[in-house]
Amino acid sequence: MKLLENKTTLITGASRGIGKGIAEVFAKQGSNIAFTYNASVEAANALEKELQSYGVKAKGFQSNAANFDAAQQLAADVISEFGTIDVLINNAGITKDNLLLRISEEDFDKVIEVNLKSVFNLTKAVIKPMMKKRSGSIINMSSVVGVKGNAGQSNYAASKAGILGFTKSVALELGSRNIRCNAIAPGFIETEMTAALPEETVKGWRQGIPLKRGGTPEDIANACVFLASDMSSYITGQTLNVDGGMLT
Ligand code: NAP
Repeated sequence: MKLLENKTTLITGASRGIGKGIAEVFAKQGSNIAFTYNASVEAANALEKELQSYGVKAKGFQSNAANFDAAQQLAADVISEFGTIDVLINNAGITKDNLLLRISEEDFDKVIEVNLKSVFNLTKAVIKPMMKKRSGSIINMSSVVGVKGNAGQSNYAASKAGILGFTKSVALELGSRNIRCNAIAPGFIETEMTAALPEETVKGWRQGIPLKRGGTPEDIANACVFLASDMSSYITGQTLNVDGGMLT
């Protein structure tokens, strides 16, 4: 039995990495997929075709998650195309790492806008239709760095910690409407975002993880399937660390 049959999922930032992995696993579980991307037009077109080959409806939208008006328009377009949004996954994110001494105001603001304000923009855009339906699952992609902090990532850590406070507040506000809101805190997941790190750093990280490997996009996608599906219908306001035991 497919766990997400008859659901429509909107995923931000799915042209590559974790978002792409979520889109693939969700389509295999029977969910229709609306996804967004920033600039990767070719990758998005290829993903749209791949998802359709799993027998579900799928469409990519070029939409800047950091822009409030674009997010409202996106939700309206998805509803008119798909009829509903059952699951929202706020996954789009960027890094602009630097020590606090060197970080520019612009790089601080940009990371907060793309990583945190986007979560506000999209959540606000979907809650009215979810309230009408008295059902919905919102999943926000935080990070272990948002839970623990990290030297050289004060902007990114602040954005990811902000997501945790937002998630808990939405869970409290909308629980009575049967809208659930949870966060996932991935550890070290090997994607293009982490490919930019020096190989020695990566080796050191793998060694420090109790399960002795970096995570894959599928590891995160499987946790998302659980939080999106009715298997988690009594879970809200939680942060699930998917990190190979990194924070333990
Ligand atoms: P990634 O490989 O760099 O992919 C980022 C995705 O976000 C791309 O699809 C990108 O689209 C999209 N995106 C960037 N800015 C956007 C914007 N303004 N509007 C819409 N889409 C935008 O990143 P990843 O490693 O898969 O990470 C995905 C999420 O997991 C992020 O929130 C990240 O912070 C979080 N996370 C990752 C790790 C890790 O180890 N990888 C660990 C913890 C948390 P384009 O292709 O068009 O640029």
